[in-house]
Parts: sequence; structure tokens; C-alpha cells
Amino acid sequence: MKPSTRLVHPPAPSGSAPQTVNPVIQKGSTVLLPDAAALYDDDAYVTYGRGGLSVHEVLKAALCDLEQATAVELYPSGVAAVGGALLAVLQAGDELLMTDTAYKPTRRFCDRTLARFGIQTRYYDPTLPTETIAGLIGPRTRALFLESPGSLSFEMQDVPALAALARSRGMLSLIDNTWAAGHLFKPLNVGVDISIQALTKYVGGHSDAFMGSAVSRDRDVAARLHAGVVDLGWSVAAEDAYVMIRGLRTLDLRMQRHGENGLRVARWLEGRAEVAAVLHPALPTSPAHEIWRRDFTGACGLFAFVLKPAPPDATAAFLNALELIGLGFSWGGFESLAIDCDPQLKVRSFCKHYGGALVRLHIGLEDPADIIADLEAGFAAYRDGAA
Ligand SMILES: *Cc1c(COP(=O)(O)O)cnc(C)c1O
Repeated sequence: MKPSTRLVHPPAPSGSAPQTVNPVIQKGSTVLLPDAAALYDDDAYVTYGRGGLSVHEVLKAALCDLEQATAVELYPSGVAAVGGALLAVLQAGDELLMTDTAYKPTRRFCDRTLARFGIQTRYYDPTLPTETIAGLIGPRTRALFLESPGSLSFEMQDVPALAALARSRGMLSLIDNTWAAGHLFKPLNVGVDISIQALTKYVGGHSDAFMGSAVSRDRDVAARLHAGVVDLGWSVAAEDAYVMIRGLRTLDLRMQRHGENGLRVARWLEGRAEVAAVLHPALPTSPAHEIWRRDFTGACGLFAFVLKPAPPDATAAFLNALELIGLGFSWGGFESLAIDCDPQLKVRSFCKHYGGALVRLHIGLEDPADIIADLEAGFAAYRDGAA
């Protein structure tokens, strides 16, 4: 063959590839098919790489196993998974009942994109009794969206009761299960139709990759989710799928440590004079502790606390004095992080007044004594700022 052809088609390696314990990162848009009939035989062959190749198949099987599902779709981020699932099951004229404590970009998707396609979102207070939420269901309400615990303020929802309510009214139920990492709580086992999580958080676990998933058991629901991904052309990179598989291997261990470290810091915060309240569902003082104990097998490292009322500068002084704990969004990685939540609470429809600044902490895998020492330095700066 001529030189230009040989550059395009170098000799293939001979013999079979060595067997490694991890899957091969198979990359490809084009898939070579054995004969003309196979080109259009989508049932028997993977005919194109956009829907995923071998490494994606390994990840999908692991995620189905994790959440005891029969089908899963992968999305390029958690936000894409939330939006993709909602677009897949709703249509123009429908109404969506959305928890008021949803992750803020979920709310933005509803208010901007869903609204533009004629889908109306009605927000509900997640602390209302199930019967009261039932009263909000109208003739056009097609779906109930849950997030438990809620973002930033950690309210627990009675998920089994709400899933049963949705089913009894012919609605679908969806949940953002990111806090549990699909591991500490299994929503499909209590009747939820679609469980979504940002794999970006604990499954990835190292703050270096984006991905989302939506799992289901019902064939019709699964088909709708799949059509949504196919139609919108979403695809995730093989390297990122590999990173998620690697994260899953240590998920159980990491969640145990995040949970223990988080509770240790939360208990310490409960004893601090500067703290008005600690919002952590695994603390017996939490109003939703019983639900957490009934439904969850553990806690992650994410919770919030309320600072006693002080000048606004005092909160900034607290955050700015932290050295080990980084200031940054996202969570689920190995590292401890903090944010103040008040600017995000303003968009809520039923925002409680917490009686002071709300600070969210992600407790990482560091030694809790070092995290506590850092928080102590923060409180010293806070007292100076408040003085
Ligand atoms: C971070 C997060 C998401 C979105 O995940 P991304 O991968 O960052 O898009 C969705 N839901 C919750 C609760 C989150 O915390």
C-alpha cells in the first residue's frame, strides 16, 4: 500500500490483549460491523459509539446493581440527568410538583426551560404532611419530584408515602438521590419510579469528573428515558465512565468515613456557643431523624449549621479564616468544603428563617481533629467579626 494509506491503517497488534482487572477504555464513534445486514441491525449490534461502548456497559451494570434497578441512562452531568429525566416524562400542558428545597439548578431548569415548553412547575414545602401535598395535585399534575434530604437545609421527606401517593394518582415520582450516592438509600425499593444522582459527587469521589445517572425498573419509563437521551444526543466519554467505575470500588468505604467524620464534626458544632442549630438528619435532635433512621443505612459528609445572629461581615470572617476547609461548590470529593447558603435561599418560595447565617459543610476524609481545629480558627475570626 501507498504511504498515505499505511499512515491511516497501521499494522494491528498481534495476539490477544493482556487481561487487566479493570475494563479497557474503549474509545470510538465508528463501530465496524461484520457485514451489510449488520449495519441496520440495532437489536443484535452496537452500530454507533454515541450510546457507549464496553466501559460504559460495565458502568451501567454496576449502577443498576447499586440502586437495584433494571435500566440506567448516563448523562454528561447531574444537571443533565435531572433535566433529561424531566423532559423525558413530561409534555406541554403538564404540571410538575417540585420540592421547594431542590438543588438550585433544578429549579432554574424548571422555571426557564420547562416553562418555555409549556410545562408548569408548582413548588411545595417538603415539610408539609403527605395529605396536604396530596391536596396540591391538580388535573394536569403528572409528576412529583423529591429530594431528600433537601439541598442546603436537609429536610427529610417521607419518600415511601409520597411515592405511593404519586402512584395512586397516576403520576410518576422522581427523586434526586445524590446525598445518598445511590448507596445509603434505595428509592426504587420504596416505589419511586426514577432515581437520579450526580455521579460527579460521591461516585466519582475525587472532584475531577462530571456525570449523572437516572435509574428505573418500569419498562415504559426506561424506554422514555432512553429515547430522551438518544434524541438529545447525550454521550459521555469513556475515560469519565472509567473514573466512575473506579469510584464505585471504594464508595462503601468512603461513605462510611465521610459519614463518621461528618457526624463527629456535627456533634462538636452542637456544643459550640456560636452555633444556633446543626441541620443533619443523622443527629437525634434533627426534626426528621426518625425518617432518616427508618429509610437510610448511613449518612454522607454533607450537612449545614446556623450561626447565631451576627453582622454579615462575621460570616465572611468565619469563612475567610478557614485554611484546610476550602471555599467552593460541589461536594462528594475527598476534601472538606464550606459555603454560605443565604444568597441561594432567596429563590425559595417557602424559605424558613433560620435565625442566622446558614453555612453548609462537606466533611472530607481528613482527620476530623484537623477539620475541627480549622473550624475553631473560623469561630475565633467570627467572634472578632461579630464584636
Ligand atoms: C451537584 C448536584 C447536582 C448536579 O450535578 P452536576 O454534575 O454538578 O451537574 C444535582 N443534584 C444535586 C443534589 C447536587 O448536589
